[in-house]
Amino acid sequence: MYKYLFGPVPSRRLGMSLGVDLVPKKVCSLNCVYCEVGKTTKLTTERIEYVPFKRVKDEIIHFFRNNPDPDFVTFSGSGEPTLNIRLGDVMDFIKELKPDIPIAVLTNGTLLSDRQVRKELQGADIVLPSLDAATRGVFTRINRPAPGIDIDNYIRGLIDFRKEYKGKIHLEIFVLPGYNYERNELKELRKAIIRINPDSVQLNTLDRPGTVDNLRSAGREELEEIVESWGLVNVEIIAAAPKRKEVQSYRHDAEEAIIGMIARRPCTIDDLSETLGMHVSEINKYLDVLESENKIQPVRQDRGVFYKPA
Ligand code: SF4
Repeated sequence: MYKYLFGPVPSRRLGMSLGVDLVPKKVCSLNCVYCEVGKTTKLTTERIEYVPFKRVKDEIIHFFRNNPDPDFVTFSGSGEPTLNIRLGDVMDFIKELKPDIPIAVLTNGTLLSDRQVRKELQGADIVLPSLDAATRGVFTRINRPAPGIDIDNYIRGLIDFRKEYKGKIHLEIFVLPGYNYERNELKELRKAIIRINPDSVQLNTLDRPGTVDNLRSAGREELEEIVESWGLVNVEIIAAAPKRKEVQSYRHDAEEAIIGMIARRPCTIDDLSETLGMHVSEINKYLDVLESENKIQPVRQDRGVFYKPA
């Protein structure tokens, strides 16, 4: 089992995607209320070599020697990838080894105000940053940022990145009723989108429990209302979880193994990850499908969210 690579996983946006995770679980500059991976344990903006470059390199070499090429290599996982100061080096290494495989980076975008981070991301083919708020109050409530992250600088960083970067930018906005699903915030977000000028805007909402109680996902109609009221051409609603099953790399053996474990006793994502030897991000994708099919249900307890048969 690899420590820094996972999948290839059926990604709803990138096909069959090999994940590269460059930070330990949950090192992040945000602590979003809706985070599927759990609470941020190290809330920071410090850029260091969180995982050793050499070991990541060894795993990448091993993977490509022993597996067919994936559609994409995606930097994502259980924290914020731009916090790893060797991100640019890892991307350069993959490009050298496999120049034809496109690279995507899923980032919360908060570090794009740093010129060096923007420079490192030039090596990616697609960058998917997120932005869930455009005013300080809502930003603080929904994303609970590390000290020093200011919403105006954050948006400025996204605007600067757009000007410098030649690849595709798909901006993800997570819509959460009770937080950013509110007339004024949506108006301000629209203004920010126009200034940032991404290739597309992807509206997402809650599939699974977040880190606080009583979150509600936005309904299809609410998301469609946003698309209509914004009147922008490049806004799309990301496909729902069940479509994952249509992706070729969806592994029914993985699904069965997860159901089998949950049938024996309620499990957290970490329990499933440790026992099945799968990365938390990979487990998450299967739980999305199982929950949407009403095969499992989440229950919040002291140690986190447990899954049990529905
Ligand atoms: S930015 Fe991503 S990883 Fe970090 S807390 Fe938010 S959802 Fe979780």
